[in-house]
Amino acid sequence: MTNNNIYFIANWKMYGDLKSINSIENVINLSKKIKYKKAKIIYCPPYTLLVQFVKKTNKTKINIGAQNCHTHQYYGAFTGSINAKMIKNTGTKFVIIGHSENRINGDTNKIINQKIRSSLKEKLKVIFCIGESLKEKKNKKTNLVLNQQIKNGLKNIKKLNKIIFAYEPVWSIGTGIIPKFNDLENQVKEIKIFIKKTYKVKNPIVLYGGSVNPKNISSLKEITSINGFLIGGASQNSKKFIDIIKKTIN
Ligand code: PEP
Repeated sequence: MTNNNIYFIANWKMYGDLKSINSIENVINLSKKIKYKKAKIIYCPPYTLLVQFVKKTNKTKINIGAQNCHTHQYYGAFTGSINAKMIKNTGTKFVIIGHSENRINGDTNKIINQKIRSSLKEKLKVIFCIGESLKEKKNKKTNLVLNQQIKNGLKNIKKLNKIIFAYEPVWSIGTGIIPKFNDLENQVKEIKIFIKKTYKVKNPIVLYGGSVNPKNISSLKEITSINGFLIGGASQNSKKFIDIIKKTIN
């Protein structure tokens, strides 16, 4: 990896309680070392822990993100939902939108577009997930699917400087399977070419996500087109998360 900022985004999914926040202390200490100043660490805990995470990481370089938000920008009668305004109000700066676990549960490209728009209006930075299913990959539809996800997800959005892309092949999330080195390198390059061409963005940030762990990080970090990682399972264990950061920046 040659870039100056390397992203390590921890997606805690539906895990974590008040006690587990203490486990990030070692990560906070690591983030303060000059050697790791390139590491842009963003913790995305469940909504219930956002305030505590913001407090815990106050005065550190670590940022906090939510894992989703409602489409609606304003307050309203949406029982059980959280909107971008409420997320922003906790001191959280980022939000993951378009994760495949939410696409599977009904988030269409149109809904994702609404969520991105309401997040940007609240000045949240968006971690925008895209990725093809195994069936789409087998049918050689990967580029078509990714380009549609990007185009429809970003419909009527002009400023892309608040968007970080995360390429997460669905077949790789939580399965222990990662794409072949060359395939991944080329796929991320293709995504960047598409974004540059379509939106006139000079240097889009594209991360990789899917079963990143302390074992496979040594080969993944050699992929020069990637700007960092979105890490699910392994990020919930601070020892593993630190191992990933240390092996990437050595
Ligand atoms: C994710 O949740 O975005 C993810 C990549 O999960 P995992 O690392 O567990 O595959």
